[in-house]
Amino acid sequence: MLDGVSAVLGSAKVAYDLTKGLLDLKEGAAVQEKAIALTGILIELQGHLISAQQEHMALLKRVNELEQLLDATHTKRQKFERYRLHQFPKGSSAYVLRDEHHTEEPKHYICGVCLESEQKVILQPRAMGLVCPKCEAFVYTSQESL
Ligand SMILES: [Zn+2]
Repeated sequence: MLDGVSAVLGSAKVAYDLTKGLLDLKEGAAVQEKAIALTGILIELQGHLISAQQEHMALLKRVNELEQLLDATHTKRQKFERYRLHQFPKGSSAYVLRDEHHTEEPKHYICGVCLESEQKVILQPRAMGLVCPKCEAFVYTSQESL
């Protein structure tokens, strides 16, 4: 699209130069009047095209920013798709590494509170449960083996 806008700008410049050439011929007041009107239109057209080109550049920049954000979000999603919500017998819950990933990492639980802010924090054992070392959320696990 940028090439197209540049081409239009180039054509408008050529039309402007031709119109200016008509003015130089001075072949009658009617031709001169029309050429002046045409020049005004062409100048206005150039202004619109320059604005459109600037808007296009701003949109390209925004698309680039959004693509980077999408990539980052996709990476985070992949990171957390490795976990599933696990509910302990007494009703408390935490995210546990899915079984298919136990060959890569040992089984562990991550904090659901921290996960909401897209942070992976591994819960640590504490009497009768697990605790988040970051936000100190406690997950009651009772006697279930972890
Ligand atoms: Zn936490």
